[in-house]
Amino acid sequence: ETNKETLGFQTEVKQLLQLMIHSLYSNKEIFLRELISNASDAEDKLRFAALKDDALFEGDSDLKIRLDYDKDAGTITLTDNGIGMNRDDVVANLGTIARSGTAEFLKQLSGDEKKDSKLIGQFGVGFYSAFIVADKVDVFTRRAGTPVEEGVHWSSKGDGEFTIEQVSRDKRGTEIVLHLKPDATEFADGWKLRTLVKKYSDHISFPVVMKSESEEEDKKGEDETINDATALWTLPRTEIKDDEYKEFYKHIAHDFEDPLTWSHNKVEGKLDYTSLLYIPKRAPFDLYNREAPRGLKLYVQRVFIMDDAEQFLPLYLRFTKGVIDSNDLSLNVSREILQNDSTVESIRTAMTKRVLDMLSKLAKKDADEYQKFWNEFGAVLKEGPAEDFSNKEKIAGLLRFASTHTGEATQNVSLDDYISRMKEGQKKIYYITADNFVAAKSSPHLEVFRKKGIEVLILSDRIDEWMMGYLNEYDSKQFQDVARGDLDLGEVETEEDKKQQEEAAKEHKELTERIKKALEDSVQEVRVTNRLTDSPACLVTGEFDMGAQMKKIMEAAGQ
Ligand code: ADP
Ligand code: MG
Repeated sequence: ETNKETLGFQTEVKQLLQLMIHSLYSNKEIFLRELISNASDAEDKLRFAALKDDALFEGDSDLKIRLDYDKDAGTITLTDNGIGMNRDDVVANLGTIARSGTAEFLKQLSGDEKKDSKLIGQFGVGFYSAFIVADKVDVFTRRAGTPVEEGVHWSSKGDGEFTIEQVSRDKRGTEIVLHLKPDATEFADGWKLRTLVKKYSDHISFPVVMKSESEEEDKKGEDETINDATALWTLPRTEIKDDEYKEFYKHIAHDFEDPLTWSHNKVEGKLDYTSLLYIPKRAPFDLYNREAPRGLKLYVQRVFIMDDAEQFLPLYLRFTKGVIDSNDLSLNVSREILQNDSTVESIRTAMTKRVLDMLSKLAKKDADEYQKFWNEFGAVLKEGPAEDFSNKEKIAGLLRFASTHTGEATQNVSLDDYISRMKEGQKKIYYITADNFVAAKSSPHLEVFRKKGIEVLILSDRIDEWMMGYLNEYDSKQFQDVARGDLDLGEVETEEDKKQQEEAAKEHKELTERIKKALEDSVQEVRVTNRLTDSPACLVTGEFDMGAQMKKIMEAAGQ
């Protein structure tokens, strides 16, 4: 008779559950934010699906989230009338983790709870956080538009397996019952739950309702909305507290930590949209996976349209999270339409500027905070000069480098810093590229610069040489690879230096010619140099030849 089945969690889910239960016990209350966030997403998805097929409302278009508790039973129940799930959805969503790279990510875990709880932030906790407070979780759900008999009951103790059973459910949407652990029964409390909803979920777009506990006869037992329920980005900036911005970030970014900074703007006129953009504190574990979800949450006239709308920002700003709510796009816009839409193109241009400005502002206001950003996302921003020609100068201003000035591997020198320290008569910005910092720092090419006290930027990231191929100048000053072509030190080089050099070249003409003959197949030219003070010789790349790092990349790519 019964169609109940027992299935095992994917290994990664088991590991994540263990980790979560052990590392987040001091932060138990976040489970409520995660579950309400999911419920809100489900309402958003239903509203969107109903644009095309309003039968999906099944006569109930009053979208809301209900929160109940039973002190005696030690349970909390969260119900939404959103999109719901069918059997396959449940197995996929509540039994596996779909993000690629999860297994490798979990391997980095140390067992040190404090460290691991930070790591888990990079990952996002989500539905499984229910097991921080519950020793058993029941999920009853039915996908909107499917027959009443096709409801699903999922149940698990979080110990490695779950059961799944077809049940009859007249209401669409999802109901989650948490059977609280003995040390979490404090959450089965009206005041506590109200406080948490206010704290974490005040500005999701949907009402969260509870039964009134007022003593007044006419209110007792009636539904009462306990959150503000207006989408945060629709409010004027002046009415929003920092904490509200932060909580909203956690909801949309599925992040566990506060954001580094944000920018909220209402644009009216030729374009009409609101954007709320955030820079996270920490890179997600799959930042370099180009398939990983990225982009903004797109709303059109307050109606959720899609997650990961990547058309609104270039790839090199893929760390940006946030919401864009447009009044210009149509409600039936699709990913395909977004790709060739001139309005989208204009918004993208404006948003790109917005993000770059937000970063400049952060860098000016708080160098330490900006450094945090750079350490996490700098390597991605370095893709910028190649991808976004028109903002090259702005991006260059945001770059940070290691330098002979500090002598340390930390990338914390800006081009403006460099320029402020340029020697009198110095016209160019000098840099060196190498496989790693130590190799670069000990390069013989730096000898003459050390002697003259000229600063050289040290570039040793894989992407650096490629990036420099797209950066010719900054603040009207050319970039010069110190290992390339003729070394022109500008007016820092005295007439005397030049004369000496010419004389030396004449004097050693015979020697250089002999060396050239001996090395004929390997070098183009042998000459006396002003580059060196201690080393006898060094290799120099032609002005227009491929650099050493670039050669390796091409070779690795089989070219
Ligand atoms: P995320 O929200 O980051 O996608 P979660 O672990 O919170 O990850 O949820 C996993 C998935 O389970 C969601 O993406 C969604 O597809 C599904 N889900 C969770 N809760 C609900 C719900 N209340 N209604 C419908 N689907 C849900
Ligand atoms: Mg979630």
